[in-house]
Amino acid sequence: MFRSIKSPLGIIVSSAVFFATAMVLWLAISEHEDLYHKAVRGNVNALATNLTDDLAVVLEGENINYTELSVVLAQLEAYDNIISAGVYDDDGALLSQVDGKAVDRATSPVTEKALDAQTPAGFFTENNDLVSIHYIGEPAMLKGYLKVVTDVSRPVTRSKRALLFQAMPLVFVILLVTIGISLYFLSRLLRPLYSLSRFTQQVNETKDYALRYETGHKNEISKLGNSINNLLEMIEVELTINYEQNQTLIEQQQTMTRLANYDSLTGLPNRQFVMDNLRLELARARRADEDLVLMFFDLDGFKGINDSLGHETGDLILIEVADRVTTMLREGDLVARLGGDEFIILPDRDTSRASIENMANRVITAFSEPFQLRGLALTVGVSLGIAKATDADFDLSQLMSNADLAMYRSKAKGRGTYTIFTPDMVESHKRKLSIANSIDQAISNHEFQIYYQPKIDGKGVIIGFEALIRWVHPDFGMIMPAEFIPIAEQGGKISAITRWVIEQVCVEMSALRQHLQRRFRVSINLSGHDLRHSGLFDSIHALFIKHNINPEYIEFEVTESAYLENFALSNKFFRRVSNMGCAIALDDFGTGYSSLSYLTQISIDTLKIDRQFIRELETSERSRLVTGTIIDLAKRLSLTICAEGIENHEQWEYLLEHGCDHVQGFLFSKPIPLHQFDTLPARFERRALIQSNL
Ligand code: C2E
Ligand code: CA
Ligand code: CA
Repeated sequence: MFRSIKSPLGIIVSSAVFFATAMVLWLAISEHEDLYHKAVRGNVNALATNLTDDLAVVLEGENINYTELSVVLAQLEAYDNIISAGVYDDDGALLSQVDGKAVDRATSPVTEKALDAQTPAGFFTENNDLVSIHYIGEPAMLKGYLKVVTDVSRPVTRSKRALLFQAMPLVFVILLVTIGISLYFLSRLLRPLYSLSRFTQQVNETKDYALRYETGHKNEISKLGNSINNLLEMIEVELTINYEQNQTLIEQQQTMTRLANYDSLTGLPNRQFVMDNLRLELARARRADEDLVLMFFDLDGFKGINDSLGHETGDLILIEVADRVTTMLREGDLVARLGGDEFIILPDRDTSRASIENMANRVITAFSEPFQLRGLALTVGVSLGIAKATDADFDLSQLMSNADLAMYRSKAKGRGTYTIFTPDMVESHKRKLSIANSIDQAISNHEFQIYYQPKIDGKGVIIGFEALIRWVHPDFGMIMPAEFIPIAEQGGKISAITRWVIEQVCVEMSALRQHLQRRFRVSINLSGHDLRHSGLFDSIHALFIKHNINPEYIEFEVTESAYLENFALSNKFFRRVSNMGCAIALDDFGTGYSSLSYLTQISIDTLKIDRQFIRELETSERSRLVTGTIIDLAKRLSLTICAEGIENHEQWEYLLEHGCDHVQGFLFSKPIPLHQFDTLPARFERRALIQSNL
């Protein structure tokens, strides 16, 4: 009701002052009335005493002189407030009466005819009028009574009014002054309370709990101020504690978030983080009707590095990979480690083909420089798979699976490539599955065949053959090993195939020997997976015995990466195989590890220069340089050098010039089945080849 404490207090104080003043006024008027009454009685008494003295003389005789009586009474007519007066004899009978000036105002009968005998003298009030009875003569010898009726109420009222009129202005001034002074002191008293209230309001608005109320005198408000100061101090302490606890909580939460969302080795976001992010991004892209690109990549032969050079080296490589990729990305691109050697890149917005290809190329370039680790220079390949959200209908797992598919395409194509997912890959994926599922059947149904590609020396003489598997599939027709070998490797079916190839070569060995009446070697390709199976040597040994094979007719080819990925096992295996008499060739040399120091530690006989260098001999200075260097290196290490993929005589000329021992390629012969061996010449003439090539 009241917004300020001042108003009710002001009202209370004013009312109190007003009430006190009224009380004083009322008391004064009452007193005045009392005094007035006393004065009137005194006057009436004095007047009556005079009259009774005169009346006593008149009533002295036997006969009453009424005229004299009337004259005496007539004195009363001069008085304003006398209503009437009567004289009675000693028996109370009325002798004479007179009306005073105030007779008109009388309310009661002025006089009675008689008075009770022995009426006592004195004053009483009758109908507001003052009636007085006086004895005439001594009470012992009473001669009569005098009764005087006086009007007092009206004169009193008049007098009171007069008094009131006189006193009122003064009273009013005093009242105002008193109220004014009271209010002044009241507001002075309340001032500290107001300042305290303002202070608390300030604290409330600024939330600055370091503020303090300045306390002056030692009154209740100062005590209240002190209490508020104490309270603020407590709040401040509590707030500090709260703040510190909050900080700790925030830090803990950040640590938890980091642990939950970031990979501890590389510091990159982890699978959990990127999946959450991707889910949101996909929803956003779908709403905005935009596309989104996902890039998968993993390192070629990383497992081999881990196995041969140790996990610490593997970890160092992963850290550097994260570093290299992060520095080449633009702001807004996201790179994360999914686990193992698998990474993911989420490029920021721009999904144009040019931008994607540009980024893919930059990632590949980031891997072109060898990794310098612990004195080794390691070249690590990378395979990229790229998928778009629109091709996956914005479904996260579909998108991931598409990118994965594209990445495996890159792996199948060879190192340092990227593949952008296209829907037909799903179809080819189905083909892949169907191939994987029919390998076992293919062996029992004799669907595999061995094709042989001759290897020749510098004089054009066949010194051996490379056994290359072919699959004539009942539904898909001829399937090349480049397609089904990786599938077999992934599906764990490669050992069965390798065993079949070795046995088949053993079976066909006698036919081969009949065709070529000289020493030669049949080269059998081994996969990295074969080397991880410890039983391989025993089964080879058993097959050689079973088919009566001279191990000196056999060579095993293994790729540089397969050898190094299983370094310890490979070394042991090839040493045993070599001791038995077989030769060992390092296939596809020059593409993988650029550190050559291991060459002195492994037991091999031949280096096979990778086809890509031969293909580029005419066009690439670098390939010519690498080829020359590899040949030179092989010579220094007393290794035989073999070049594959020779398709024209210029390539052969070049290789011959540089002292390459053996060559193999379509220029001489494509791989052929045994029954076509009749088409092979006894010797490949250079001149004839040049002409046929022309
Ligand atoms: P590779 O060991 O490098 O075999 C040489 C490949 O080069 C063969 O392909 C051969 O046909 C091809 N080639 C030879 N000369 C030329 C040429 O002048 N030009 C061109 N363009 N190509 C030429 P193929 O038979 O398709 O085999 C592909 C790969 O499959 C082989 O590469 C090898 O890694 C794998 N492979 C083949 N047979 C087997 C096998 O029995 N076991 C295992 N584990 N892998 C095999
Ligand atoms: Ca080979
Ligand atoms: Ca090769």
